[in-house]
Amino acid sequence: MPVGGGSPISVQSMTKTDTRDVKSTVKQIKSLAKSGCEIIRIAVPDIEAAKALGSIGKSVTIPVIADIHFDWRLALESIKQGVDGLRINPGNIGAKWKVAEVVAAAADRQIPIRIGVNAGSLSKKLLAKYGHPTPEALVEGAEEHINILEQLKFREIKVSLKASNVTTTVDAYRLFSRRFRYPLHVGVSEAGPAFTGIIKSSVGIGILLAEGLGDTVRVSLSTDPHEEIRVAYEILKSLGLREKGANIISCPTCGRCQIDIRGLAAKVESRLKEIDKPLTVAVMGCAVNGPGEAREADIGIAGGKGIGLLFRKGKIIKRVEEKDLLNELMKEIYK
Ligand code: SF4
Repeated sequence: MPVGGGSPISVQSMTKTDTRDVKSTVKQIKSLAKSGCEIIRIAVPDIEAAKALGSIGKSVTIPVIADIHFDWRLALESIKQGVDGLRINPGNIGAKWKVAEVVAAAADRQIPIRIGVNAGSLSKKLLAKYGHPTPEALVEGAEEHINILEQLKFREIKVSLKASNVTTTVDAYRLFSRRFRYPLHVGVSEAGPAFTGIIKSSVGIGILLAEGLGDTVRVSLSTDPHEEIRVAYEILKSLGLREKGANIISCPTCGRCQIDIRGLAAKVESRLKEIDKPLTVAVMGCAVNGPGEAREADIGIAGGKGIGLLFRKGKIIKRVEEKDLLNELMKEIYK
C-alpha cells in the first residue's frame, strides 16, 4: 500500500476492539477491509497486545500499523511480530539508545514510522513556549521528532499534525508542507460523535485535500469505525480523488414535489451501501431540475404526480408508479 509520491490517497481507520482479543480484532479488521479500509492501525497498550499483533497480521490482508506511546519495548515486540508500520513519536521514547534500537529494527524490516503530533499531547516545553497547541507548536513538535529520525538516517517517515480544532489542524498542515516533503496522514483529531464529527472532518480534510495536502486519510469519529471509512470515501469522492460506490444526487424537495423523495432517497442510499462500482444515481422530485440531473446521472428518476420517469444514460426508459419506483430503480442499478 504505497503512501505518498502521487499514489492514490488511501483510507485508513483504527480498531476499536481490545487488541488482546485477537478474534474480535481480526473480525473487525476483515469487516472494515470489506468496506474499503486500506490500512488499519491498532492500539498497543501493553506487551500482551503487542504479542497479539502477529496472529492478527497473519489473519488479515491489509497493512497493520502498531500505535505505540512511549514504550520502546512495545515497538520492538510489534516489529518482531511483523507489523507493517509504526506510529510512534521518537521524542517520547526516552533514552537515545532506546530510540536507536527501535529505528534500527524498523530500518531492518523496511517499515515506515508515522510521527503523529497531536494537540492533546504536545510537550510541556512547547506548551510553555507557545501558550497553546498552536499550528507553529504542532509543526515544531513534528520537526523535533523528524530530526531524531533523520539523525539516525531514517527517512521512511509519514507525518500527521492533528488537533480537534479544524483551523488549527489545517494551518498546521499548511505550515508543515511549506517546509517538509514527507507524506501526510491527514485528519481532524477527536472530531466528535457522528454528526458534528463528520462535518468537522469533512471541512478540515476537505480543505487540505483540495489544496493538494494529504496522502492517507483517517476520519476520527466516536462511532462505528465503518462510518469513518464511509465518510473518508465520500470526502475523496466529492473532490474527484477516488471512485468508490454510488454517488447519490437527490433533491431537497420543495412545494413542487409530489412523491416521497425523502423516503425514497434514504432507501436508495441504504440499498446502495453494498455497491462498490462507481455509479451516479439521481433521485429528483420534479420536472424543474429533475430530468436534467437524472439525465446526467447513470441512472435516475424524476418525480411527477404519483409517478416517476426512469432514466438510464440520458434516456427515459420507463414511466413507473410511485409504489414501484424503488424496485424498478434498483433493478436498473443492478443491471
Ligand atoms: Fe423542488 Fe423539483 Fe428542485 Fe426537487 S427538483 S427541489 S421538487 S424544484
